[in-house]
Amino acid sequence: MKIAFIGLGNMGGGMAANLAKAGHEVAAFDLSEEALARAAENGCTMFTAVPEAVADAEAVVTMLPNGAIVKAVLTNDVIGKAPKGALLLDCSTIDVATAREMIETATKAGYDMVDAPVSGGIAAANGGNLTFMVGGTASAFERAKPVLEPMAKAVIRAGDAGAGQVAKMCNNMLLAAHMIGTCEAMKLAERNGLDPQTFYDISSKSTGYCWSLNDYTPVPGVGSASPADNDYAGGFAVALMLKDLRLAMAAADDSGAKVDLGRKATEIYEAADKAGLGGKDFGSIFTTL
Ligand code: NAD
Repeated sequence: MKIAFIGLGNMGGGMAANLAKAGHEVAAFDLSEEALARAAENGCTMFTAVPEAVADAEAVVTMLPNGAIVKAVLTNDVIGKAPKGALLLDCSTIDVATAREMIETATKAGYDMVDAPVSGGIAAANGGNLTFMVGGTASAFERAKPVLEPMAKAVIRAGDAGAGQVAKMCNNMLLAAHMIGTCEAMKLAERNGLDPQTFYDISSKSTGYCWSLNDYTPVPGVGSASPADNDYAGGFAVALMLKDLRLAMAAADDSGAKVDLGRKATEIYEAADKAGLGGKDFGSIFTTL
């Protein structure tokens, strides 16, 4: 298939490479020359403008920082420039309202479009192990599945337009709270004379188990390997978690959902970001306690 890929950053770089590895012809564009050069090394063809990259694409994937950029790229340079009937897949994490607006605009212009945000970090993007949560019509989902599969360990339809973004923000709000809870429990155990590794051995086999504790233990040298063992470098940055929490809080305000714990979690990640931990893995909350 001819696939245009826009946004070759930490996530998009590996994703585009996996599409090329699967045998697709990938036309790549990014504002960063460095990112473009890396994509070319990984089997993609470099383009210097979006309209040229999408000119004969059967599918266009976007993996961009936020909703405003996704909207600008799609409305200015993709819709009306890619062949009619092409499939558009936005894999960025953006607000639900923009995701729905883009799908409506694309559909009116003769394209199928899905929102398809991902769970899994840079390692999963490089390894083709992402989970895609997809919003859009059943027929657009069927078209999207084979495009996403070379980048995925799972491709799941969440529902209609925007449902992928709803799933993503709810998942990450839950993860944000789990991580804080894990850090607090570890610190409380330690302050009360319980060896953290012993607490891990007990709680990871008890009702406190969760991914943050069992598989991503935020305490250096304790439990499973995680960025905590490397001074919280790499992994999923506090600033990105904060971005996702802010999207969730905006959606909670719009929908009237009561998310007291989510709101408290947002405050805690905001404080960590202000304290200079924005670029560190989100398990670094442990160092603030
Ligand atoms: P990134 O900043 O590394 O990459 C974004 C890329 O988009 C950059 O290379 C940038 O040059 C490019 N870009 C910006 N504006 C552009 C434009 N107008 N035209 C073309 N290219 C443009 O970000 P990332 O970590 O790859 O994240 C991408 C998306 O994936 C975000 O929405 C993020 O929330 C989401 N996400 C990230 C992770 C993660 O662990 N990093 C995990 C899940 C989801």
